[in-house]
Amino acid sequence: MTISFEGRVAIVTGAGNGLGRSHALELARRGAKVVVNDLGGARDGSGASSAASQEVVKLIEDMGGEAISHGANVANFDEVQDMVQQTMDKWGRIDILINNAGILRDKSFSKMSLDDFKLVMDVHVMGTVNCTKAVWEIMKAQNYGRIVMTTSSSGMYGNFGQSNYGAAKMAVLGLMNTLVLEGAKNNILVNALAPTAGTRMTEDLMPEEIVKAFAPEAVTAGLLTLCDEHAPNRFILCAGAGGYSSATIFETDGCFIPQGSQNPETVRELWPQITNTDNQRALTSGAQQGEKFVLKAMAYRKSL
Ligand code: NAD
Repeated sequence: MTISFEGRVAIVTGAGNGLGRSHALELARRGAKVVVNDLGGARDGSGASSAASQEVVKLIEDMGGEAISHGANVANFDEVQDMVQQTMDKWGRIDILINNAGILRDKSFSKMSLDDFKLVMDVHVMGTVNCTKAVWEIMKAQNYGRIVMTTSSSGMYGNFGQSNYGAAKMAVLGLMNTLVLEGAKNNILVNALAPTAGTRMTEDLMPEEIVKAFAPEAVTAGLLTLCDEHAPNRFILCAGAGGYSSATIFETDGCFIPQGSQNPETVRELWPQITNTDNQRALTSGAQQGEKFVLKAMAYRKSL
């Protein structure tokens, strides 16, 4: 099956370099009109330049595609709104939003300043919130929207020196989980990508030959399946170096402790049962956890 984006309009944030650049080029190659957003700063978020995003626009135009660049800082809602307005003025719709822009300010938690923590949260979390908020009503009115969050194994599993980045990357999954519920009736599907790629973000963290093996294009192949017409919903796709997998949060079935025994000693005693993964499930709303506990309490009462 050929995946086509003919007639679709996509905004890709942070598309001047690395993964975003690769996503933007492939979306355009497959027919999408693309907004190449990039602030153009350094890896730590300092500075700004339009050179990289303009180069991506030129590459798209050279292959016969349509693209515009916009230098909005995703952490600034007014600038993001301006980008969305310009997109609507030019093409009249926005079908796809790829929240990809990101920075790093790595340090152990002991040494990390709160300013470095806040800036990383601002770009990754508020950047994603701002862009999503700015397109949300448009997608609702169109009854069509595909949104991708960019998360990271650092957020899902932790990484030394990345408390700020990890917290931010987990936060975008929390945003996804609720937007999936709120967007469903308007055909807005929301997924997340957990990439590993050799880009300027990782080039000094991996040996050169590994950087080459982790080509952004391999990740982009997965990304495209998260934002076309037949996209799934609420998936976390992990992709890197030609490997593809999916990540899910499961919750154990747990146990019920009756009143009178609800103390830390009993909880510790039943720890093996609480953490037993045999009947674990992936829940699809917070309410399902409450329902599970109520059912356990009712089953206990019935057994008396
Ligand atoms: P990159 O540094 O090559 O590209 C990031 C781009 O985002 C840059 O062009 C930068 O100018 C832009 N950007 C940064 N702050 C911005 C802002 N405030 N507004 C607009 N644009 C901004 O990095 P990359 O490796 O391509 O990373 C892309 C995304 O993938 C990021 O969200 C990153 O956290 C995530 N990620 C990457 C890896 C990896 O292995 N490379 C792993 C996990 C997650």
